[in-house]
Amino acid sequence: MEFENTQRTQLDKLGEFGLIEHIAANARLQQASSIKGIGDDAAVIDAGNHAMVITSDMLVEGVHFDLVFHPLKHLGYKAIVVNLSDVFAMNALPEQVVVNIALSSRFTLEAVEDLYNGINIACEKYKVDLVGGDTVASPRGLTISVTAVGRAKKDELVYRNGAREHDVICVTGDLGAAYVGLQLLEREKQIFMENPKVQPDFEEQTYIVERQLKPEAQREIILKLKELGVKPTSMIDISDGLSSEILHICRQSGVGCRLYEAKLPIDHNAYEMARKFNLDPTVCAMNGGEDYELLFTVPPEVYEKIRPELDVSAIGYITEKAAGVKLIDKSENEVEIKAQGWNAFRKR
Ligand code: ADP
Ligand code: MG
Repeated sequence: MEFENTQRTQLDKLGEFGLIEHIAANARLQQASSIKGIGDDAAVIDAGNHAMVITSDMLVEGVHFDLVFHPLKHLGYKAIVVNLSDVFAMNALPEQVVVNIALSSRFTLEAVEDLYNGINIACEKYKVDLVGGDTVASPRGLTISVTAVGRAKKDELVYRNGAREHDVICVTGDLGAAYVGLQLLEREKQIFMENPKVQPDFEEQTYIVERQLKPEAQREIILKLKELGVKPTSMIDISDGLSSEILHICRQSGVGCRLYEAKLPIDHNAYEMARKFNLDPTVCAMNGGEDYELLFTVPPEVYEKIRPELDVSAIGYITEKAAGVKLIDKSENEVEIKAQGWNAFRKR
């Protein structure tokens, strides 16, 4: 289908999700091998006796990272990890990555080496092969785009749309630390800009700073679920924030949910640091994003089985659609969950 262009619509009116929906509405699948197109963590392609998954993510200097405090080596590592996270979110295992970079003349060979050192370390750790890419000039700054390819048996794939009433909503690890880490890095940058003689003071907050600069993807969880013979009913990774991810699951599954504020896993240091910044730790956990944890649903009896084996928290349960998408706060008030996520096109 072709877009009829008669108006000029600002993109911030749609937001990122609105724009993707608009693109998806006009993309028709023609190949029988395209099992899943736009709309999940990765696309799924029929590859004979198994399925391939494929996903892309792009990081743009000044939007997704700031080289004042993001070492290139860490950035290379992060660029790989955020892509692998989407492969794991399909319950697949990544095998290859393709890396595209756009560089301005300000970058040296040594800078590119630092970036690729991080890329190579991530590839080794997650057992994926760098098999190609593209290198181009950029008028300004650095852009890095990665595409990851993974594999799964067809009946192992987990989508966003399989959550069922009564399922337990599980989240791995903890939430909000990457966002709080970013606030700390921004504060130290500000102080440094005003007085370059002052050395940054991270108050020994290595965990939250690392969560921002060098996140990890949840390979071990996926392997452990397979070992336990457990396949979640739905799954998504947390890149934009718990609020927007649970909304994706509920919307695509045609269900509602009740999440409990008191059950949200928040690291102690992240909690304390959020308070120091006058931020609500719950808001950081719900809307901060970049945690790269997995959010998934399983029936209650399956939750009992995985609970002693995995680092997961049960944060709520799935309800019928009419009950809405709700957070029960610590005072037992019911609050409707709205996607605060990123509106990538909001005017800065
Ligand atoms: P995630 O947060 O899991 O990386 P996104 O929100 O980036 O997912 O993307 C959601 C879906 O939209 C995915 O299926 C992705 O492939 C698709 N998508 C995003 N941007 C585009 C685009 N410009 N053209 C086509 N599909 C897109
Ligand atoms: Mg994702």
